[in-house]
Amino acid sequence: GEVDFKEDAKFAQHMKQKGEAVSEFAKSRSIEQQRQYLPIFSVREELLQVVRENQVIVVVGETGSGKTTQLTQYLLEDGYTRSGIVGCTQPRRVAAMSVAKRVSEEMDTELGDKVGYAIRFEDVTGPNTLIKYMTDGVLLRETLKDSDLDKYRVVIMDEAHERSLSTDVLFGILKKVVARRRDFKLIVTSATLNAQKFSNFFGSVPIFHIPGRTFPVNILYSKTPCEDYVEAAVKQAMTIHITSPPGDILIFMTGQDEIEATCYALAERMEQLITSTSKAVPKLSILPIYSQLPADLQAKIFQKAEDGARKCIVATNIAETSLTVDGILYVIDTGYGKMKVYNPRMGMDALQVFPVSRAAADQRAGRAGRTGPGTCYRLYTESAYQNEMLPNPVPEIQRTNLGNVVLLLKSLKVENLLDFDFMDPPPQENILNSMYQLWVLGALNNVGSLTDLGWKMVEFPLDPPLAKMLLMGEQLECINEVLTIVSMLSVPSVFFRPKDRAEESDAAREKFFVPESDHLTLLNVYQQWKSNQYRGDWCNDHFLHVKGLKKAREVRSQLLDILKSLHIPLTSCGMDWDVVRKAICSAYFHNAARLKGVGEYVNCRNGMPCHLHPSSALYGLGYTPDYVVYHELILTTKEYMQCVTAVEPQWLPELGPMFFSIKESDTSLLDHKKKQKEEKTAMEQLRSEKAEEARNCSSR
Ligand code: ADP
Ligand code: MG
Repeated sequence: GEVDFKEDAKFAQHMKQKGEAVSEFAKSRSIEQQRQYLPIFSVREELLQVVRENQVIVVVGETGSGKTTQLTQYLLEDGYTRSGIVGCTQPRRVAAMSVAKRVSEEMDTELGDKVGYAIRFEDVTGPNTLIKYMTDGVLLRETLKDSDLDKYRVVIMDEAHERSLSTDVLFGILKKVVARRRDFKLIVTSATLNAQKFSNFFGSVPIFHIPGRTFPVNILYSKTPCEDYVEAAVKQAMTIHITSPPGDILIFMTGQDEIEATCYALAERMEQLITSTSKAVPKLSILPIYSQLPADLQAKIFQKAEDGARKCIVATNIAETSLTVDGILYVIDTGYGKMKVYNPRMGMDALQVFPVSRAAADQRAGRAGRTGPGTCYRLYTESAYQNEMLPNPVPEIQRTNLGNVVLLLKSLKVENLLDFDFMDPPPQENILNSMYQLWVLGALNNVGSLTDLGWKMVEFPLDPPLAKMLLMGEQLECINEVLTIVSMLSVPSVFFRPKDRAEESDAAREKFFVPESDHLTLLNVYQQWKSNQYRGDWCNDHFLHVKGLKKAREVRSQLLDILKSLHIPLTSCGMDWDVVRKAICSAYFHNAARLKGVGEYVNCRNGMPCHLHPSSALYGLGYTPDYVVYHELILTTKEYMQCVTAVEPQWLPELGPMFFSIKESDTSLLDHKKKQKEEKTAMEQLRSEKAEEARNCSSR
């Protein structure tokens, strides 16, 4: 009414005096209303009361109820940030960035000022930061520097139901912090109802339920199993678009490739429709979202589509619980998702497509009922849902390589990993396997404690082999070169290969080839970019992603800061790149492969076949080298080695003596605790098994 208007006018005047735009005010007002409309707002007082009375609580609420964006602000409003900051962890980088941006808007502050975020290699916080969103991995690393997390007054472990590897480790660590620091508060949030487990873990702490406000969702199953879910999803989306009332569509796919294929097919169908009819075709705004998508494109999913177009968002499982988009009335669920799984046969993690769990499928369906009664189209049969899907997802800690976790826990002086307070302990075999790999890299000694090298490796937010490569660069005096390679391996591929200009871009890439090595090819790309003053137009001319290269440059400078802090000088080998290949070899001899036929190799350790990728620089050699090491194995139509370097056969036993020929002279292992003995005995057993495998391979 009128009063409001006057108030507005007064406020607008005030804002004007402050030099702020009036339109900004209009925006902030509607944001305030949005905040008050969220389900969590109706229980704000009770919730804060429970927080005041307890050191640890679990908060359960439907996705979209306001847990992630509001809890931090409520805590700030209740005064907790007077003596420390409020941290909020997210299992996903995209969520940490996007939510921090949203909250900084709600609080009308620059991102990085009062509200900031930190993800690996990117810290957008400052001295004024009171609310910090971060990946759980970042907080885990912070416990290395400050085991009591003194700067935090409250930590919110958000999305705990996701059970990411870092979250699971944090559970055990934060439980100790809670016991040591009476002034510290911990809030664990979960979107699903099985929160009792979290409560029990912390000693039967209270569970606070945020009342839901959801609409019924009609679930429709496919009558027969579907052969091509991309095609089926595209068809379904088009049918909805043409025949169903307004409301946005959300499609779940497993990864970037499928998402791109789906978006492409949708755009094509729309094109066809428009050219084949004289009638007006309603607009469809097709929006992809996945973690590697640039941030400005990610933000688009939250914006209103122009001139009333219907939005069709094509997402990975990131849209399951981490990100909430309002206005979705139709969900199309393929029933699949990608999961990182440790493959013991390969001795490493691989992203694989799996059916999702029933809990995840229900979450997906729920996304359709946030703004009104919705519909979920499941592209699988009801019997598949009932009989083939697991009730709940398997926690990451039980299915992935634990190399980083082991390194981290060892450096936190956790003597016996088999004894660590895990909510769901990982299989013993996984722990031992990871310890074995660290031992092979030289990060652990024979009794399973960190070596000097291991202690240094912990400093780097890198997978153990990459940290090893970097530190071998120190020993071999080529750290400048290795640093660049490690940075390039830490960002998505910088080679741009548009479908319609494949040949042209392949030719451009070949110009960078260093025939012995894809790693050195990356180094070459970076060095040439540098000698061209890091120019963007130069990248475009050479079919390189300028964003990727810039990111690599940032990563490089951050790793350089860590090297400086360790007083490691920046040595260079100039153009003598053989020694760089040696450093690469020292980190990846567990991924060493022996030639079997043209372009065909077998892994030295386990005999797994692996193939040279058609895009590899090694084809430029004119012959295929006898021995190579590779960065990782990609499973597509074949097992392809990604990023390959030719190595001299004598380097393998020279750099990986414990691996390629073993001497049984370890008798000095007497005085250690019983617990360590368990680990050690098992490790030794593993070691001799693996040594046997390796010996079989190296006896060419
Ligand atoms: P929860 O954590 O309980 O799932 P959130 O706090 O993430 O809920 O979301 C609360 C509301 O904020 C939702 O309606 C969501 O659409 C909105 N929201 C979250 N992030 C953004 C963003 N980046 N832009 C616009 N709206 C957002
Ligand atoms: Mg959330």
